[in-house]
Amino acid sequence: MHKITIAIDGHSSTGKSTVARQLADYIGYLYVDSGAMYRAVTLFALGKQFISETHFDKSSLVKALNDIHLDFKPNAEGKQEMYLNGENVERQIRTLQVSEFVSPIATVSEVRKKLVEQQQLLGRNGGVVMDGRDIGTVVFPKAELKIFMTASVDVRAQRRYEELLQRGDSINFDAVLENVMERDQIDSTRADSPLRIADDAIVLDTSEMDEEDQFHVILQLTKDRIAKRV
Ligand code: C5P
Repeated sequence: MHKITIAIDGHSSTGKSTVARQLADYIGYLYVDSGAMYRAVTLFALGKQFISETHFDKSSLVKALNDIHLDFKPNAEGKQEMYLNGENVERQIRTLQVSEFVSPIATVSEVRKKLVEQQQLLGRNGGVVMDGRDIGTVVFPKAELKIFMTASVDVRAQRRYEELLQRGDSINFDAVLENVMERDQIDSTRADSPLRIADDAIVLDTSEMDEEDQFHVILQLTKDRIAKRV
């Protein structure tokens, strides 16, 4: 049976990654977390001190792009994890510090070009669920199913805050809220591939939905879309 391409875009902390991963596992597709790739480049840039609170040396980052090798490899439970130059960085890329610098890094066209090419390669044969900000608009404009997830900013910040607390990070809610709002702003207004709703995307507001609800709605949309193809 033909395997479709599923693009799940939307605002930060709307539940995209969780539902995209669950869906991919359920239907036997590859899951690609494109945000993890931008986060890994950010971790690299922080490590090289190309970016800090006070400066952003874009040209050094662009020059060093060929030194960045990203891979996804499954862990013992089959969950895809992010590797940067051979090192598992899955945990390090999820800190609030990386979240604070990732959106400026994601405005750099050369970074986007490199990552988009890799994403297109990963999904070239279909059978992929990819989540991000520009998957349905730029990476796979012909994706058979496009979903755009959103939720109120307070709900999103609360979810992200709980996630970080569960990991054992010491953070305060206001810093998380501010980061969610700032990323929305930068992601939606950047010149290259801004976050926007693709014309043919289905919009899902998850403010009042738990993870199970989200999964069932998206699974049904997927089944309907696949049924149309056969
Ligand atoms: O999805 P996640 O919140 O991990 O993404 C982190 C950041 O990476 C986003 O806020 C955005 O700046 C950037 N991003 C992007 N395009 C994508 C995926 C993520 O610009 N396709």
